[in-house]
Amino acid sequence: MERYDIAIIGSGPSGLSAAINAKVRNKNIIIFGNSNLSRSLVLAPKVNNYLGFYGISGTELRDKFQKHIDDMNININTEKVNNIYAMGEYFAIMTANKTYEAKKVILALGIEHTKPIEGEDKLLGRGVGYCATCDAPLYRNKIVTILGYNKEAESEANYVSEMANKVYYIPMYKDEYELNDKVEIVKDKPLEIVGSGKVEKLVLKNTEISTDGVFILKDSAPPQQLVPGLEMEDGHIKVNRKMETNIEGCYAAGDCTGKPYQYMKAVGEGQVAALNAVEELSSILK
Ligand SMILES: Cc1cc2nc3c(=O)[nH]c(=O)nc-3n(C[C@H](O)[C@H](O)[C@H](O)COP(=O)(O)OP(=O)(O)OC[C@H]3O[C@@H](n4cnc5c(N)ncnc54)[C@H](O)[C@@H]3O)c2cc1C
Repeated sequence: MERYDIAIIGSGPSGLSAAINAKVRNKNIIIFGNSNLSRSLVLAPKVNNYLGFYGISGTELRDKFQKHIDDMNININTEKVNNIYAMGEYFAIMTANKTYEAKKVILALGIEHTKPIEGEDKLLGRGVGYCATCDAPLYRNKIVTILGYNKEAESEANYVSEMANKVYYIPMYKDEYELNDKVEIVKDKPLEIVGSGKVEKLVLKNTEISTDGVFILKDSAPPQQLVPGLEMEDGHIKVNRKMETNIEGCYAAGDCTGKPYQYMKAVGEGQVAALNAVEELSSILK
């Protein structure tokens, strides 16, 4: 299996800045993220604090970022990363269908603005999960409920419906939903996941659903779920001035490391993380 020098998780400003800086230094990189690069980027109506681009819209900035990475032959791998394991010499990076290897990892995950729902933390791993496709076989002939925060969650729901007895889909956004006939859409507000020892039901504002599993599918899972053993501080990944986390060889940059949540801070941190990763790689070779 090909072992990359650096794997970058996240295609927002911090991940892209890390990618271009590592590529300039001839490192073999892989970057995971979204085809639209970053939802936070696309949503910004006017950006007045990105030096050199006064008054630019988020989508215009996204297009400039896209051209930059295209010109440097950097392609985004649009698989979602579900787990990263430190294996000593390298990291194993798992998506739903594949495992990748990299010597260094840069977490550029952004921040999830939605709060966990009542019972989510308590029942995590006991029926609550963040990757439906990974755990689908465990729910053969059972009832699964999916809280979908983005369109990608719809394909996960369709996949799970091939194995589960019943799948409920609670959309947390407004759109047309591309779901097969076996998936029942419930438009209601989830309030609490209930169960003693394991998930038993989901309580919504107007109804209750008896269920064996609840999957919460957002753009990103909590960082400490993604990377077991990762040290957090006040809800953010703890880093030093080199953007190193507590796990050797694992860096973090951008909103996921803390406030202020701003493009220029994200881009700067991505650069610092990449340059330090590159330096560490060359010291390994010496
Ligand atoms: C409406 C709005 C307006 C804003 N306006 C401004 C402004 O005017 N000026 C300013 O400076 N800042 C502004 N911001 C803040 C700015 O958008 C963020 O600070 C910036 O996008 C952070 O960049 P990032 O790279 O850290 O994270 P993000 O841009 O959030 O990118 C993270 C990326 O990582 C991906 N990802 C996460 N987990 C995984 C995984 N497990 N596998 C694969 N991919 C993953 C996500 O899908 C996402 O694409 C605004 C934000 C919003 C929402």
